[in-house]
Amino acid sequence: MPTAQPAPWFDAHLDLAYLAEKGRDMHAPLDDCRGPLQPASVTLPSLRDGDVRACLGTIFTEGVQDPTAHDAETGAHVYALGDAEGAYRAGMRQLKLYNAWAGAGVIELMPCKPQDSSPAAFNNASSSLSPAGRVASSGAPSSSSPSSLSPLGRGRGEGSSSSSSSSSSLPSSLSPPGERAGVRGSSSPSPLRLGVLVECADPIPSPDELPEWDEQGVVAIGMAWWHESRYAGGNGTDNLGLTDLGRALIPAMDALAVVHDLSHLSQRATDELLTLTDAPVIASHSNCRSLLGGEANPQHLRHLSDDTIREIARRGGVIGLNLIRNFIRTGLDRNNPSDRPSADDAVAHVEHICELVGDRRCVGLGSDMDGGITANDLPAAINTPSDLTKLTDALRARGWNADDLAAFRYDNWIRFWGVKSDHLEQA
Ligand SMILES: [Zn+2]
Repeated sequence: MPTAQPAPWFDAHLDLAYLAEKGRDMHAPLDDCRGPLQPASVTLPSLRDGDVRACLGTIFTEGVQDPTAHDAETGAHVYALGDAEGAYRAGMRQLKLYNAWAGAGVIELMPCKPQDSSPAAFNNASSSLSPAGRVASSGAPSSSSPSSLSPLGRGRGEGSSSSSSSSSSLPSSLSPPGERAGVRGSSSPSPLRLGVLVECADPIPSPDELPEWDEQGVVAIGMAWWHESRYAGGNGTDNLGLTDLGRALIPAMDALAVVHDLSHLSQRATDELLTLTDAPVIASHSNCRSLLGGEANPQHLRHLSDDTIREIARRGGVIGLNLIRNFIRTGLDRNNPSDRPSADDAVAHVEHICELVGDRRCVGLGSDMDGGITANDLPAAINTPSDLTKLTDALRARGWNADDLAAFRYDNWIRFWGVKSDHLEQA
C-alpha cells in the first residue's frame, strides 16, 4: 500500500477546550496526557505530529436536567437546560482558553470568513454563492475577504486584547504551558491555526451579543447539540425546529459572516434554517444517512440526508467526515473495542457525497477525535492523527489523484474559509 505524501490536514471538528477542561494535558504527548477518554488520540503535539495544521476547535457545552450531579472539576461544561447565564459562563470559559492559548503562541486564531462573504453576498445575491461563483474566485482566497471582515487583534503578534486578559482568569491547570523548555523555541513549528466553532448556541445569551463572540474568534455556530437548545432542536429531539431566538440568530450570524453548522441540527431545524438564509452552510462532522440505514436508523437525525448534502454543496459549503465508528457503519458491536470499521468504510461516505454532487470540492475531514469517544471508537488502524493517511490511502486505492487527495485533506476547507495555503504549508 503506498503512503501519502506529507501534506497538511484541516480537521473541522476537535473538542480541544472541552478535553482540557476535563483534565487532559493537551500539551503532553499522547502517552503522558492522562485525563478522560483513554486511549487518547488528540493532544496538541499529536496533531502536530499528524500534520494537522488547521482546525475548527469547538466550544462544547451540555445542558442537563441536574447540573449539581456533575463533578465541579470535570463538569465545567455543564449547565441546567434553559439556564442562559450558566451556559454563557460555561461557553465563555472555553473561549477564553482558546484565546489564552493564542496569547501564548500555542495556537493562532484564524480570522477566517468564508469566501464570497461580503455582507452583500451573504445577505442577498444567491448567484454569488453558487458553486460556479466559488470556482471562479478560488484562485485568490484571501483577496475576496476585505480587511474589514477580518476580526482584528486575533492571534499571536496581533496585540490580541482578549488574550492578554484571559490567562489570568483561568485556573492554573488550564493555563498554557508558556515557554517550557523543549516545548517551544525559535525552531518550533508554526502554531496550529484554529477557528472557534460553537457546538450548541446556548452560551450566546442573545443574537445582539454575537459580536463579542465573533471578535474573540468564533467563525461558525451549530445552534443545537443533542438536546433542544434555546435556539433549535438537536438530533436527539423529536425533530424539533427552530425557536424564535434561533430564527433571530440567523440574520445576526449572516451580518457577521459567521457560518451555520448543520451537524446535530434536527432535520426540521435544518430545513427551516435553509429556507431563512442563502448563506453558505457547512456540516463540520457528519456522515451520510443513506449509508447508515436511512430513516430506519434511530439516530438518523444525526446524519445528513442526500437532499441536505446536495444543498450544502450547491451553496459551496463543505462536509467534514466524522470518524466515530458507529457513524461510519451500522451493526458494530459497541462492547467489542476491536469491532471497528475500516478506513475504506469511512471514505465510502466521502465517495457517496462526491457522487451525489458530481465533484470532489465539498468534502473534507471533521474527525471528532476524542469528542466523547476514545481511539478505540475510530476506524481500524487509525489511532492518532498520524494515521489519518490511511484515509488518503483508501481514497487513492479508489482512484483519487494527488490533487483530489489534497482537496480532501485541506484544500477544500481552506478554500471555503479563505485561509492562505502558504501559511499552512510552512514548517
Ligand atoms: Zn458533535
